[in-house]
Amino acid sequence: MANRRDFFKTVAAATAGFVVSGRGVADAGARAVQAAPRRREVTVAGRRVKVIDVHCHCVVQEVADVVKGTSLASNAGGGAGRGGGGGNVLGPERLRLMDQQGLDIQALSINGYWWYAADRDLARRIVQVQNEGLAKWVAAHPDRFVAFASVALQHPDLAAEQLEDAVKKLGLRGASIGGHVNGEDLSLPKYDPFWAKAAELGVLVFMHPGGADNIVREGALRGRGELGNIIGNPLETTYFLSRLIFDGTLDRHPGLRICAGHAGGYLPSYLGRTEAACQVRPNANCANKKHPSEYFKRELLIDTMIFSEEGLRHLVAEMGVSQIVYGTDIPFNWPVGVDLVLNASFLNNADKEAILGGNLIKLLRITS
Ligand SMILES: [Zn+2]
Repeated sequence: MANRRDFFKTVAAATAGFVVSGRGVADAGARAVQAAPRRREVTVAGRRVKVIDVHCHCVVQEVADVVKGTSLASNAGGGAGRGGGGGNVLGPERLRLMDQQGLDIQALSINGYWWYAADRDLARRIVQVQNEGLAKWVAAHPDRFVAFASVALQHPDLAAEQLEDAVKKLGLRGASIGGHVNGEDLSLPKYDPFWAKAAELGVLVFMHPGGADNIVREGALRGRGELGNIIGNPLETTYFLSRLIFDGTLDRHPGLRICAGHAGGYLPSYLGRTEAACQVRPNANCANKKHPSEYFKRELLIDTMIFSEEGLRHLVAEMGVSQIVYGTDIPFNWPVGVDLVLNASFLNNADKEAILGGNLIKLLRITS
Protein backbone atom coordinates (compact mmCIF):
# COMPACT_ATOMS: atom_id res chain seq x y z
CA MET A 1 0.00 0.00 0.00
CA ALA A 2 1.27 3.43 -0.83
CA ASN A 3 2.48 5.34 2.19
CA ARG A 4 3.06 9.05 2.57
CA ARG A 5 6.67 8.82 1.40
CA ASP A 6 5.61 7.03 -1.79
CA PHE A 7 3.04 9.72 -2.37
CA PHE A 8 5.70 12.41 -2.15
CA LYS A 9 7.91 10.39 -4.47
CA THR A 10 5.09 10.16 -6.99
CA VAL A 11 4.54 13.90 -6.88
CA ALA A 12 8.26 14.48 -7.29
CA ALA A 13 8.36 12.15 -10.30
CA ALA A 14 5.35 13.81 -11.87
CA THR A 15 7.08 17.16 -11.63
CA ALA A 16 10.52 15.78 -12.48
CA GLY A 17 13.01 18.48 -13.19
CA PHE A 18 11.27 21.05 -11.02
CA VAL A 19 12.10 22.15 -7.54
CA VAL A 20 9.17 21.21 -5.37
CA SER A 21 9.36 22.69 -1.94
CA GLY A 22 7.40 24.59 0.65
CA ARG A 23 4.04 24.44 2.24
CA GLY A 24 2.23 21.38 1.09
CA VAL A 25 1.94 19.23 -1.90
CA ALA A 26 -1.34 20.57 -3.27
CA ASP A 27 -0.06 23.99 -4.21
CA ALA A 28 3.48 22.75 -4.82
CA GLY A 29 2.23 20.94 -7.90
CA ALA A 30 0.57 24.08 -9.18
CA ARG A 31 3.55 26.28 -8.44
CA ALA A 32 5.95 23.81 -10.01
CA VAL A 33 4.82 24.90 -13.45
CA GLN A 34 6.41 28.29 -12.90
CA ALA A 35 9.23 27.10 -10.64
CA ALA A 36 12.83 27.16 -11.82
CA PRO A 37 13.94 23.79 -13.13
CA ARG A 38 16.52 21.89 -11.15
CA ARG A 39 19.69 22.10 -13.16
CA ARG A 40 22.13 19.25 -12.95
CA GLU A 41 25.59 20.67 -12.45
CA VAL A 42 28.25 18.20 -13.54
CA THR A 43 31.43 17.97 -11.52
CA VAL A 44 34.59 15.92 -11.89
CA ALA A 45 36.45 15.32 -8.63
CA GLY A 46 34.40 18.06 -7.02
CA ARG A 47 35.16 20.61 -9.69
CA ARG A 48 32.39 21.99 -11.88
CA VAL A 49 33.01 21.18 -15.53
CA LYS A 50 31.21 22.43 -18.59
CA VAL A 51 29.22 19.89 -20.60
CA ILE A 52 28.78 20.69 -24.28
CA ASP A 53 26.55 18.72 -26.63
CA VAL A 54 27.75 18.53 -30.23
CA HIS A 55 24.84 16.44 -31.48
CA CYS A 56 21.41 17.96 -31.06
CA HIS A 57 18.68 18.75 -33.49
CA CYS A 58 16.37 21.66 -34.07
CA VAL A 59 14.36 23.41 -36.73
CA VAL A 60 13.80 27.06 -37.63
CA GLN A 61 10.10 27.20 -38.30
CA GLU A 62 10.25 30.42 -40.35
CA VAL A 63 11.70 28.38 -43.22
CA ALA A 64 8.19 27.04 -43.89
CA ASP A 65 7.27 30.42 -45.38
CA VAL A 66 10.27 30.33 -47.71
CA VAL A 67 9.36 26.97 -49.23
CA LYS A 68 5.59 27.45 -49.26
CA GLY A 69 4.18 26.28 -52.59
CA THR A 70 7.39 24.49 -53.62
CA SER A 71 8.04 20.75 -53.77
CA LEU A 72 10.09 21.10 -50.58
CA ALA A 73 7.23 22.45 -48.48
CA SER A 74 6.52 19.14 -46.74
CA ASN A 75 10.08 18.87 -45.47
CA ALA A 76 10.24 22.14 -43.64
CA GLY A 77 7.35 22.00 -41.23
CA GLY A 78 8.52 22.19 -37.69
CA GLY A 79 10.26 18.86 -37.60
CA ALA A 80 7.25 16.96 -36.30
CA GLY A 81 7.20 14.74 -39.36
CA ARG A 82 10.90 14.05 -39.21
CA GLY A 83 11.00 12.33 -35.86
CA GLY A 84 11.62 13.81 -32.47
CA GLY A 85 8.07 15.16 -32.32
CA GLY A 86 7.76 18.83 -31.48
CA GLY A 87 11.05 18.56 -29.62
CA ASN A 88 12.87 19.91 -32.63
CA VAL A 89 11.26 23.29 -32.08
CA LEU A 90 13.39 25.41 -29.77
CA GLY A 91 11.65 26.68 -26.66
CA PRO A 92 11.52 26.34 -22.88
CA GLU A 93 11.26 22.55 -23.13
CA ARG A 94 14.74 22.37 -24.69
CA LEU A 95 16.25 24.28 -21.78
CA ARG A 96 14.43 22.05 -19.30
CA LEU A 97 15.85 18.97 -20.99
CA MET A 98 19.35 20.44 -20.96
CA ASP A 99 19.08 21.33 -17.28
CA GLN A 100 17.83 17.87 -16.44
CA GLN A 101 20.69 16.18 -18.33
CA GLY A 102 23.43 18.49 -17.10
CA LEU A 103 24.08 20.07 -20.47
CA ASP A 104 25.53 23.55 -20.19
CA ILE A 105 25.76 24.33 -23.89
CA GLN A 106 24.30 22.80 -27.02
CA ALA A 107 25.87 23.23 -30.45
CA LEU A 108 22.69 23.21 -32.52
CA SER A 109 22.34 21.87 -36.04
CA ILE A 110 19.44 21.51 -38.45
CA ASN A 111 19.28 17.98 -39.72
CA GLY A 112 17.64 16.32 -42.71
CA TYR A 113 19.42 18.35 -45.41
CA TRP A 114 16.25 18.37 -47.50
CA TRP A 115 17.33 21.73 -48.95
CA TYR A 116 20.09 19.96 -50.92
CA ALA A 117 17.36 19.49 -53.53
CA ALA A 118 16.76 23.24 -53.93
CA ASP A 119 17.87 25.37 -56.86
CA ARG A 120 20.43 28.06 -56.22
CA ASP A 121 18.08 30.92 -55.48
CA LEU A 122 15.76 28.94 -53.23
CA ALA A 123 18.72 27.29 -51.47
CA ARG A 124 20.16 30.70 -50.77
CA ARG A 125 16.94 31.87 -49.15
CA ILE A 126 16.40 28.69 -47.14
CA VAL A 127 19.89 28.76 -45.70
CA GLN A 128 19.70 32.46 -44.94
CA VAL A 129 16.49 32.05 -42.92
CA GLN A 130 17.82 29.00 -41.10
CA ASN A 131 21.16 30.58 -40.21
CA GLU A 132 19.56 33.84 -39.13
CA GLY A 133 17.04 31.88 -37.07
CA LEU A 134 19.81 29.94 -35.36
CA ALA A 135 21.76 33.14 -34.70
CA LYS A 136 18.69 34.77 -33.20
CA TRP A 137 18.09 31.89 -30.78
CA VAL A 138 21.75 31.80 -29.80
CA ALA A 139 21.75 35.58 -29.24
CA ALA A 140 18.80 35.21 -26.90
CA HIS A 141 20.61 32.50 -24.88
CA PRO A 142 24.31 33.24 -25.38
CA ASP A 143 25.44 31.22 -22.37
CA ARG A 144 23.55 28.06 -23.40
CA PHE A 145 23.85 27.70 -27.18
CA VAL A 146 26.13 27.96 -30.17
CA ALA A 147 25.18 26.74 -33.63
CA PHE A 148 26.42 25.08 -36.78
CA ALA A 149 25.43 26.78 -40.03
CA SER A 150 23.27 25.18 -42.69
CA VAL A 151 24.89 25.35 -46.12
CA ALA A 152 23.61 24.61 -49.63
CA LEU A 153 26.19 21.96 -50.36
CA GLN A 154 24.67 21.16 -53.79
CA HIS A 155 26.15 24.50 -54.87
CA PRO A 156 29.65 24.17 -53.38
CA ASP A 157 30.78 27.73 -54.07
CA LEU A 158 27.57 29.08 -52.54
CA ALA A 159 28.04 26.77 -49.56
CA ALA A 160 31.52 28.20 -49.03
CA GLU A 161 30.12 31.73 -49.14
CA GLN A 162 27.29 30.83 -46.76
CA LEU A 163 29.69 29.28 -44.29
CA GLU A 164 31.94 32.32 -44.31
CA ASP A 165 29.00 34.69 -43.82
CA ALA A 166 27.54 32.52 -41.05
CA VAL A 167 30.82 32.43 -39.17
CA LYS A 168 31.93 36.00 -39.72
CA LYS A 169 28.63 37.86 -39.70
CA LEU A 170 26.34 35.68 -37.60
CA GLY A 171 28.83 34.19 -35.16
CA LEU A 172 27.99 30.58 -35.97
CA ARG A 173 30.77 28.12 -35.13
CA GLY A 174 30.97 25.72 -38.07
CA ALA A 175 28.84 23.84 -40.58
CA SER A 176 26.42 20.97 -40.32
CA ILE A 177 26.31 18.68 -43.35
CA GLY A 178 24.80 15.41 -44.54
CA GLY A 179 26.78 12.38 -45.63
CA HIS A 180 26.16 12.94 -49.35
CA VAL A 181 24.49 15.40 -51.70
CA ASN A 182 21.60 13.77 -53.54
CA GLY A 183 23.64 10.58 -53.76
CA GLU A 184 26.95 12.21 -54.67
CA ASP A 185 30.09 11.60 -52.64
CA LEU A 186 31.46 14.61 -50.85
CA SER A 187 35.00 13.57 -51.76
CA LEU A 188 34.36 14.57 -55.40
CA PRO A 189 36.60 17.49 -56.41
CA LYS A 190 33.53 19.65 -57.11
CA TYR A 191 33.01 19.90 -53.34
CA ASP A 192 36.54 21.13 -52.68
CA PRO A 193 35.49 24.82 -52.52
CA PHE A 194 33.41 24.00 -49.46
CA TRP A 195 36.11 21.91 -47.79
CA ALA A 196 38.72 24.55 -48.57
CA LYS A 197 36.62 27.25 -46.93
CA ALA A 198 35.98 25.16 -43.81
CA ALA A 199 39.71 24.50 -43.54
CA GLU A 200 40.58 28.15 -44.16
CA LEU A 201 38.15 29.32 -41.48
CA GLY A 202 39.36 26.59 -39.13
CA VAL A 203 35.81 25.69 -38.12
CA LEU A 204 34.38 22.34 -37.16
CA VAL A 205 32.14 20.50 -39.64
CA PHE A 206 29.53 18.28 -38.03
CA MET A 207 28.32 15.43 -40.25
CA HIS A 208 24.97 13.74 -39.68
CA PRO A 209 23.74 10.80 -41.78
CA GLY A 210 20.26 10.19 -43.12
CA GLY A 211 19.75 6.47 -43.53
CA ALA A 212 22.30 5.57 -46.20
CA ASP A 213 19.94 6.27 -49.11
CA ASN A 214 23.03 6.87 -51.24
CA ILE A 215 24.36 3.34 -50.72
CA VAL A 216 21.62 0.82 -50.16
CA ARG A 217 19.07 -0.54 -52.58
CA GLU A 218 15.76 1.24 -52.15
CA GLY A 219 13.68 -0.45 -49.48
CA ALA A 220 16.51 -2.73 -48.35
CA LEU A 221 16.41 -1.41 -44.80
CA ARG A 222 12.63 -1.44 -44.41
CA GLY A 223 10.93 -3.69 -41.89
CA ARG A 224 11.46 -4.50 -38.25
CA GLY A 225 14.12 -2.75 -36.27
CA GLU A 226 13.98 0.55 -38.15
CA LEU A 227 17.18 -0.50 -39.86
CA GLY A 228 17.34 2.67 -41.94
CA ASN A 229 18.22 4.42 -38.72
CA ILE A 230 19.91 1.63 -36.79
CA ILE A 231 22.13 0.34 -39.61
CA GLY A 232 21.70 3.01 -42.29
CA ASN A 233 22.97 5.91 -40.22
CA PRO A 234 26.25 4.32 -39.07
CA LEU A 235 26.71 2.79 -42.53
CA GLU A 236 26.37 6.15 -44.26
CA THR A 237 28.81 7.69 -41.79
CA THR A 238 31.31 4.87 -42.29
CA TYR A 239 31.08 5.31 -46.05
CA PHE A 240 31.38 9.12 -45.85
CA LEU A 241 34.52 8.95 -43.71
CA SER A 242 36.04 6.21 -45.86
CA ARG A 243 35.57 8.27 -49.03
CA LEU A 244 37.17 11.35 -47.49
CA ILE A 245 40.14 9.25 -46.40
CA PHE A 246 40.75 7.06 -49.48
CA ASP A 247 39.96 9.80 -52.04
CA GLY A 248 42.51 12.12 -50.43
CA THR A 249 40.06 14.88 -49.44
CA LEU A 250 41.61 15.15 -45.99
CA ASP A 251 45.08 15.52 -47.53
CA ARG A 252 43.91 18.23 -49.91
CA HIS A 253 42.57 20.27 -46.96
CA PRO A 254 44.82 19.55 -44.01
CA GLY A 255 43.17 22.11 -41.73
CA LEU A 256 39.84 20.30 -41.75
CA ARG A 257 38.22 19.12 -38.55
CA ILE A 258 35.19 16.93 -39.13
CA CYS A 259 33.05 15.47 -36.38
CA ALA A 260 30.95 12.46 -37.35
CA GLY A 261 27.79 11.76 -35.37
CA HIS A 262 26.86 8.45 -33.75
CA ALA A 263 30.43 7.65 -32.71
CA GLY A 264 31.62 7.85 -36.29
CA GLY A 265 29.38 5.01 -37.40
CA TYR A 266 31.12 1.67 -37.67
CA LEU A 267 34.47 2.93 -38.91
CA PRO A 268 36.43 3.69 -35.72
CA SER A 269 35.01 0.52 -34.15
CA TYR A 270 36.44 -1.61 -36.98
CA LEU A 271 39.40 0.40 -38.10
CA GLY A 272 41.82 -2.48 -38.61
CA ARG A 273 40.35 -3.59 -41.94
CA THR A 274 40.40 -0.05 -43.29
CA GLU A 275 43.93 0.39 -42.02
CA ALA A 276 45.11 -2.65 -43.98
CA ALA A 277 43.26 -1.90 -47.21
CA CYS A 278 45.96 0.08 -49.01
CA GLN A 279 48.58 -2.56 -48.27
CA VAL A 280 46.75 -5.80 -48.94
CA ARG A 281 44.20 -4.95 -51.61
CA PRO A 282 45.90 -4.31 -54.95
CA ASN A 283 42.80 -2.65 -56.37
CA ALA A 284 42.33 -0.25 -53.48
CA ASN A 285 43.96 2.58 -55.45
CA CYS A 286 44.38 4.66 -52.30
CA ALA A 287 44.87 8.40 -52.69
CA ASN A 288 45.44 8.98 -48.97
CA LYS A 289 48.91 10.05 -47.93
CA LYS A 290 48.69 8.81 -44.35
CA HIS A 291 47.49 5.61 -42.75
CA PRO A 292 43.70 5.82 -42.25
CA SER A 293 44.10 5.62 -38.47
CA GLU A 294 46.21 8.78 -38.48
CA TYR A 295 43.27 10.89 -39.64
CA PHE A 296 41.42 9.70 -36.56
CA LYS A 297 44.11 11.28 -34.42
CA ARG A 298 43.72 14.72 -35.96
CA GLU A 299 41.25 15.60 -38.72
CA LEU A 300 38.40 13.33 -37.64
CA LEU A 301 36.39 13.47 -34.45
CA ILE A 302 33.36 11.57 -33.23
CA ASP A 303 30.67 11.98 -30.62
CA THR A 304 30.10 9.72 -27.62
CA MET A 305 26.95 7.98 -28.87
CA ILE A 306 28.29 4.45 -28.40
CA PHE A 307 26.04 3.48 -25.43
CA SER A 308 28.51 1.30 -23.52
CA GLU A 309 31.61 1.79 -21.44
CA GLU A 310 33.43 -0.90 -23.41
CA GLY A 311 32.53 0.83 -26.67
CA LEU A 312 33.82 4.14 -25.37
CA ARG A 313 36.99 2.50 -24.08
CA HIS A 314 37.71 1.12 -27.52
CA LEU A 315 37.10 4.47 -29.24
CA VAL A 316 39.42 6.21 -26.81
CA ALA A 317 42.05 3.54 -27.50
CA GLU A 318 41.73 3.99 -31.29
CA MET A 319 41.43 7.76 -31.46
CA GLY A 320 42.56 9.31 -28.22
CA VAL A 321 40.64 11.54 -25.83
CA SER A 322 41.25 14.66 -27.93
CA GLN A 323 39.07 13.33 -30.78
CA ILE A 324 35.96 12.47 -28.81
CA VAL A 325 33.23 14.95 -27.89
CA TYR A 326 29.97 14.66 -26.03
CA GLY A 327 26.72 14.16 -27.94
CA THR A 328 23.11 13.39 -27.04
CA ASP A 329 20.96 13.43 -30.21
CA ILE A 330 18.34 15.48 -28.38
CA PRO A 331 15.35 15.51 -28.85
CA PHE A 332 15.63 11.80 -29.55
CA ASN A 333 15.66 9.76 -26.36
CA TRP A 334 18.63 7.47 -26.79
CA PRO A 335 20.00 6.06 -23.54
CA VAL A 336 22.89 8.47 -23.31
CA GLY A 337 24.00 10.65 -20.44
CA VAL A 338 27.00 12.25 -18.87
CA ASP A 339 27.37 9.29 -16.51
CA LEU A 340 28.82 7.11 -19.27
CA VAL A 341 31.80 9.46 -19.28
CA LEU A 342 31.82 10.29 -15.57
CA ASN A 343 31.83 6.61 -14.56
CA ALA A 344 34.34 5.40 -17.16
CA SER A 345 37.07 3.66 -15.19
CA PHE A 346 39.70 4.08 -17.93
CA LEU A 347 39.44 7.89 -18.04
CA ASN A 348 41.25 10.23 -15.67
CA ASN A 349 39.68 13.49 -14.52
CA ALA A 350 41.29 15.55 -17.25
CA ASP A 351 40.08 13.06 -19.88
CA LYS A 352 36.53 13.28 -18.59
CA GLU A 353 36.57 17.06 -18.65
CA ALA A 354 37.97 17.07 -22.19
CA ILE A 355 35.34 14.69 -23.55
CA LEU A 356 32.42 16.33 -21.77
CA GLY A 357 33.29 19.84 -22.89
CA GLY A 358 36.95 20.83 -22.96
CA ASN A 359 37.57 19.64 -26.52
CA LEU A 360 34.53 21.51 -27.84
CA ILE A 361 35.38 24.68 -25.92
CA LYS A 362 38.48 24.89 -28.12
CA LEU A 363 36.95 23.61 -31.36
CA LEU A 364 33.88 25.83 -31.17
CA ARG A 365 35.72 28.78 -29.61
CA ILE A 366 33.39 28.94 -26.69
CA THR A 367 34.15 31.73 -24.26
CA SER A 368 31.00 32.04 -22.16
ZN1 LIG B 1 21.06 12.91 -34.66
